[in-house]
Amino acid sequence: MPFNDHYVIIGNGPAGNHAAATLREKDKDAKITIISDECVPFYYKPKLTEFISGTLKKEKLMVNTLESYEEKDIRIRLGQTVEKIDPDTKSIFLKHMEKMDYTKLIIASGGRQRVLPSMTSFEEHLKFVTSYSDVMEYKEQIKKAKDFFIIGGDLVGFRFLRMLRTIGKNVSIMIYPNAFWPYNLTDEMLDKITKRLSKYTPDVIVKDDISSIESHKNGTYQVATSKGLEKKVDMVFSFNGLMPNIDFAKGTGIDIDHGILVDEYLKSNIDSIYACGSCAQIYNPTIKNYTVSIGWPNAVTQGKVAALNVLGDQKIIKSVGRKYFDMEGAMIKTTWWEDIDDES
Ligand SMILES: Cc1cc2nc3c(=O)[nH]c(=O)nc-3n(C[C@H](O)[C@H](O)[C@H](O)COP(=O)(O)OP(=O)(O)OC[C@H]3O[C@@H](n4cnc5c(N)ncnc54)[C@H](O)[C@@H]3O)c2cc1C
Repeated sequence: MPFNDHYVIIGNGPAGNHAAATLREKDKDAKITIISDECVPFYYKPKLTEFISGTLKKEKLMVNTLESYEEKDIRIRLGQTVEKIDPDTKSIFLKHMEKMDYTKLIIASGGRQRVLPSMTSFEEHLKFVTSYSDVMEYKEQIKKAKDFFIIGGDLVGFRFLRMLRTIGKNVSIMIYPNAFWPYNLTDEMLDKITKRLSKYTPDVIVKDDISSIESHKNGTYQVATSKGLEKKVDMVFSFNGLMPNIDFAKGTGIDIDHGILVDEYLKSNIDSIYACGSCAQIYNPTIKNYTVSIGWPNAVTQGKVAALNVLGDQKIIKSVGRKYFDMEGAMIKTTWWEDIDDES
């Protein structure tokens, strides 16, 4: 039997899907498998808030259908979690005890919610919007709820606030300057953002801190702040950026810091393992340091480059064009965030 390479990709977001499509384009014979712990095909995370409000139907949220993987002869394993990697035997281990061998592995496992250290004691009361399954868990509850409290204030949080206001909800928001990780908002930026957000809600709270969140038997929450504010709300959401999702790589011999450490070719310290998208921390030879990559367009570009390099190319990753992003009136220089329309 001829030996065909098996390229395994952990992650079904833009990085993983563009890696898989590029691999298939360049190598017609290889076996390609994408593994995802989510139960839906590739979808637009940036459109989740529109999906919650009901202005976007599920068909429009999806980038891929299950048939589109079949058409490209890409195997998709949904609802399966990678728990461990063994680089010595080139195997991954899934939660349901299955072992899968690979020739080359691309880690594209994205990001998960970042919880501020001061919030860990009441984390159980916080809700997040980072995935389709989060949204499906809360969609109905959001419809019924009236009063919301948002903690943090990254780009997604502000978008979520505007969406809640358009569907007639009452919203308080407490903005933390370090919510916009890896950036810190300056006082000047905070002023501008507060002014702009005040058009949407009178309850913009800055330079304060949450001191407690208590749940009541009737399902509501009492939020208290250090400066003595008290709010009774139906749901508390936290938006403090995303952190690389790399627990399964810990203790495997793969070099990690915040994310999977890779060189400018997206290769890790292990020859057969590459990483791309929000889980990667990429070496930048100009600043001689590693930076975590965020944003949809970077994930797309990196997925393609990782695939080409897996196949033997030597493409250096460049971040998507530097531009200023208007964050509620404060201009932030970013190489990574774009307004996402359809991929087509
Ligand atoms: C609500 C929201 C709105 C956003 N809006 C914008 C925007 O407007 N503009 C913009 O540029 N960016 C936006 N982003 C960020 C953008 O979506 C991400 O930068 C992008 O999705 C990163 O792509 P990725 O492929 O690296 O990872 P992801 O899209 O996060 O995909 C990671 C994949 O890995 C899988 N996975 C993780 N761990 C495991 C495991 N152990 N086993 C199996 N599978 C695993 C996950 O299930 C998922 O399929 C937004 C993000 C969110 C959450």
